[in-house]
Amino acid sequence: MTGLPLPPEATGLITIDLDALQDNWRALAKLVAPAECAGVVKADAYGLGASEIIPALNLAGCRTFFIATPEEGRAARQLAPNARLFALDGLLGGSASLLRAANVTPVLSSLPEIEEWVAEASQAGQPAPAALQIDSGLNRLGLSEADIKTLVARPDLLAALDIRLIMSHLACADDPADPHNDAQRTVFDRRRALLPPAPASLAASDGLMLGKPFHYDLVRPGYALYGGQAFGGGATPVNPVVKLQARVLQVRTLAAGDSVGYSATWQASRPTRLAVVAAGYADGLARALSAASGEATGHVLVSGQLAPIVGRVSMDLITIDITDVAGPVSRGDLVMLIGPGLSIETLGRAAGTIGYEVLTRLGPRFVRKYTGGGA
Ligand SMILES: *Cc1c(COP(=O)(O)O)cnc(C)c1O
Repeated sequence: MTGLPLPPEATGLITIDLDALQDNWRALAKLVAPAECAGVVKADAYGLGASEIIPALNLAGCRTFFIATPEEGRAARQLAPNARLFALDGLLGGSASLLRAANVTPVLSSLPEIEEWVAEASQAGQPAPAALQIDSGLNRLGLSEADIKTLVARPDLLAALDIRLIMSHLACADDPADPHNDAQRTVFDRRRALLPPAPASLAASDGLMLGKPFHYDLVRPGYALYGGQAFGGGATPVNPVVKLQARVLQVRTLAAGDSVGYSATWQASRPTRLAVVAAGYADGLARALSAASGEATGHVLVSGQLAPIVGRVSMDLITIDITDVAGPVSRGDLVMLIGPGLSIETLGRAAGTIGYEVLTRLGPRFVRKYTGGGA
């Protein structure tokens, strides 16, 4: 099995291929040119480590980053001193001064937020740099048409804003046939036309795959940079970045009729070889991966062969039926939970969720190891 160096105290290993990350950004940048390709690095770069991901993307040529929170913005500013940084969650409650101090541009989604930002930034004596988010049908964050009309009727507010970007977000971009996509584009165009002209952005990872009309001046992929393949319209030009392996703590032998794990949900129907692996729901492996009797939900790769997770996922452990795995499996071996032949999406589907959630929940007990990522 794999001989990757794992610190003796580590339960598992997330290997992050920064060369693949950079290639993914370049491939998307090429696809959308002349539109700009930003990088979305919120939630600690989808759990992969902003401190490594941001500098690597920056070296590849990425000049604009989106984070969610002011604190993420402050951290990103240290990592990319010269980049443009946009904070998707805006000001929260009263963090305008923090954002201004870190030179992070908030994405403003309501009139009170615009007023708060103008009040803060007017201290600098010049128009306040801002992105405006327009709602185009997602009904999450964003200015309504009525908000926009109120704003344009307030020349004092408009004059106090330096609008760097007007953006909106798609609800159904993973399905290219969904009529919401074109409908949202139409609403976006109508609403942004009410505002002074500014660079526009509508698409994230899936939206940019919908083609030129969705690219505008800037696209905002996150998940695709990390190798995610959520797009339902076919393969996208990105490759996997993440590999997840965890350590076998024990291999045991069960007789037919023996049960495994909490509530004895799974029973061996034959003499069974079981591998106990040091990864559980505290590490982000959803308890929904638990197999009920006779049926497997999730799988892992053991010596390159798919083996089912059996019994309940517990906090620190999963149990794998390795009876059909050819070759020896020993204590200390690493099994693969995400990697070649086992995508993030596969693991997500098995847990009744999406790859995004799998990625962002991978826990801190896994050691993160980075390869590549140079200029
Ligand atoms: C998270 C987010 C993105 C990135 O989405 P992906 O699907 O990961 O590419 C882009 N824009 C907004 C507003 C977001 O919240």
